[in-house]
Amino acid sequence: MSSTVPYRVTDRPLTSPVTTFLWESRGGGRVEASGECPECRCVTVRVWEDVQYVTKGPGSSRGPSGDGGVPRYARCACTTWHVDRPAGVEQGCGASFWIAPPRGAAR
Ligand SMILES: [Zn+2]
Ligand SMILES: [Zn+2]
Repeated sequence: MSSTVPYRVTDRPLTSPVTTFLWESRGGGRVEASGECPECRCVTVRVWEDVQYVTKGPGSSRGPSGDGGVPRYARCACTTWHVDRPAGVEQGCGASFWIAPPRGAAR
């Protein structure tokens, strides 16, 4: 797969977080957010291992909630080839952005 969007370092402001990402809890404090990169429109996945709202023990099915609703920083890590991607960079289009917390996750 390739994209016509060239690699470009773009920092999206915290004030306009991406709201289209799907949050999934994988257990053990591991949470994934997947969705479209706001810049290149490729699907990208961001994983956090150090989630504060970890619940202990097996069988925990709590989703990413109770986090205080703080957007989380992510960097595009799509596997699409973007023109002008620097050597050494293997993923993404250069965009970094903030992902809004899951909707409806209010405590
Ligand atoms: Zn991207
Ligand atoms: Zn991309």
